[in-house]
Amino acid sequence: MHHCYGKRGVGSRWQDVLVSNCRYSADKAAAPVYICNMSKVTQNVGKWGKTGVPRKGWACVNVEDLGEPSSICEMCESQEIRYVHYMEHPQYLGTIGAGCVCAGKMEEDYAAAKFRETRLQNRTHRKSRWLSRKWRISNQGNFFINTDHFNIVIFENEKSWHGRIIDHISQKTITSKRFYATEEKAKLAAFDAMIFLKDRRN
Ligand SMILES: [Zn+2]
Repeated sequence: MHHCYGKRGVGSRWQDVLVSNCRYSADKAAAPVYICNMSKVTQNVGKWGKTGVPRKGWACVNVEDLGEPSSICEMCESQEIRYVHYMEHPQYLGTIGAGCVCAGKMEEDYAAAKFRETRLQNRTHRKSRWLSRKWRISNQGNFFINTDHFNIVIFENEKSWHGRIIDHISQKTITSKRFYATEEKAKLAAFDAMIFLKDRRN
């Protein structure tokens, strides 16, 4: 199947759109195909046309949610992006912060880039509900939550807050080195730590 991905409408977010034909596809007979806007990134837009910038063989080292579309993809230098895929290459000095489509092209694996972005979106959504989740009170009077095989406890200590996470799978206990000004900040930091530890399981 021919894989390329495009965007629906001007100004809308990039998304996969299944259509019956693609004017950029070399294989017109292959169906279904995705509407294709990839010519934008395969031609000489931004760094795609720059000498010394490899076109493939990149690897993603991190992905970040900026909270809103507020940056421009450093590869095509044209797509406005919210989720930044930080890409590195052995023959390129430094990191390029790319959007999902360019990142997928750079690593020749659009599905991997899409998976990272969807996972980050899910986590952002989950974090937004984190504080309103039902935190229970332990026998010692501390807030705690059990989730994803973690036991997460928040402690108040002389007007500052810190946390502790027990990983029931590895049986390891991690205590926050930092102290937080508010209960909310400590809970949100615990969420980030929990996600970090969860990633390390895999
Ligand atoms: Zn781009």
